[in-house]
Amino acid sequence: MIEKRDFYINGQWVAPAKANDFEVIDPSTEEVCAVISLGDQADTDAAVAAAKEAFKTWSVTSKEERLALIENILEVYKSRNEDLAQAMSMEMGAPIELARNSQATSGSSHIKNFIRAFKEFEFDRMLGDHAPNDRLLYEPIGVTALITPWNWPMNQVALKVIAALAAGCTMVLKPSEIAPLSSIIWTEIMDEAGVPAGVYNMVNGDGMGVGSQLTSHPDVDMISFTGSTRAGIAISKSAADSIKRVALELGGKGANIIFDDADDKAVKRGVRHMMQNTGQSCNAPSRMLVQRGVYDQAVEIAREAAEKTAVDVASKEGHHVGPVVSELQWNKIQDLIKVGIDEGARLVAGGLGRPEGLNKGYFVKPTVFADANNQMTIAREEIFGPVLTMIPFDTEEEAVEIANDTVYGLTNYVQTQNGERLNRVIRQMRSGMVEANGTSRAGGSPFGGYKQSGIGREGGELGIEDFLEVKSVSGWF
Ligand code: NAD
Repeated sequence: MIEKRDFYINGQWVAPAKANDFEVIDPSTEEVCAVISLGDQADTDAAVAAAKEAFKTWSVTSKEERLALIENILEVYKSRNEDLAQAMSMEMGAPIELARNSQATSGSSHIKNFIRAFKEFEFDRMLGDHAPNDRLLYEPIGVTALITPWNWPMNQVALKVIAALAAGCTMVLKPSEIAPLSSIIWTEIMDEAGVPAGVYNMVNGDGMGVGSQLTSHPDVDMISFTGSTRAGIAISKSAADSIKRVALELGGKGANIIFDDADDKAVKRGVRHMMQNTGQSCNAPSRMLVQRGVYDQAVEIAREAAEKTAVDVASKEGHHVGPVVSELQWNKIQDLIKVGIDEGARLVAGGLGRPEGLNKGYFVKPTVFADANNQMTIAREEIFGPVLTMIPFDTEEEAVEIANDTVYGLTNYVQTQNGERLNRVIRQMRSGMVEANGTSRAGGSPFGGYKQSGIGREGGELGIEDFLEVKSVSGWF
């Protein structure tokens, strides 16, 4: 069990105003692995008040001072990589190797990328020769509420906290109540790195408690939220009452378009990408659209790849997929698999129930549906589990139409050796990101979505800009 640490407010670890214990469950064993406290209004108010006071001084610090702090955070973070990996593996079920080499390191790579972008960031810009007396001052928005999910905990926390710090904002972090342990370690890192009192505060809580108290708080100027589109809509409504700035990173239902001239690893790669993190990634390529001429072959490759995908407990070393995060999530995925069968998609791998030999823990069979169409529930809803939906298509126009026929617009994938077609399709994708032929985005390149996948971009220069207001000044000399 992890030692209980409560909230971090104004540079101190503090006990909650009222006792309200919450059990964190290890999804591999279904056992309690930690007990944390959930905050209430008094804790939220204290954290926001500390951030408001600290804004007076932090907002006017020099770029050098902020940079020095962020560089310290990076050094301390690297020294805690293994602790973070162990915590994430236990709280949300990422296999330890993935937790160590991907989940934990995503945090340090975001910090590095922010350092690079921040060094070049101009907070004071001339408008140009056409307006010689005008300039733009980029200034911090104010007190920010940072609300994060459980699926890539350090990835999301680092993207928000470091951007806010670089911008000169102060903040209250509310991590997911389902996976709070890594954020407690993150807070120890912030403390050790020397973050000034009140600049960074952390209060654990659930969405209806601390989450909604933050999003409706009169002294919060901006909300940066990553999570479900359902919660994103509620948060936007709550923010509207006082016109808070809102940055949202929400759900996705990515299409992976496989043309008949795709490279021969494309289908396998797509299945592997889908199953990574047990399908619990907002940018998972969960709809595989395959051109008719290679469709049967692709279904066979996908079936074999899914059946070969090993599933095991998170603490075991090696390449396998772990459980899904919670019983709630397990039940939701089972319901959606059942709906897929009932609506007439062809189940070619996996299906209902737990994989053989795993009777305890929230394990799901890596599942592939073929012969689906884009109106089926499994093609429309974000399943957030290891479930791939395959849909055949005939023409390029049809593929583009199916890919865009969703409320989401986060990441799409295209596999073809034809450069002209590739460029045409990329331009027609209504999504914030497109990845082609197995190339992954470079760290620091902007992350975010079109349509109901969100507002704003995280990472690098644009990620810092999300936390800034622009003051247009004329007549300065
Ligand atoms: P969730 O929306 O249930 O919760 C996310 C966070 O918001 C948690 O901290 C939760 O306590 C809080 N919350 C929930 N309702 C709230 C409310 N009404 N007011 C304030 N706070 C509230 O999401 P989740 O299940 O933790 O995460 C999975 C979702 O996150 C998926 O939909 C996934 O696609 C999305 N996600 C998106 C991105 C992205 O960058 N676009 C990245 C990761 C995850």
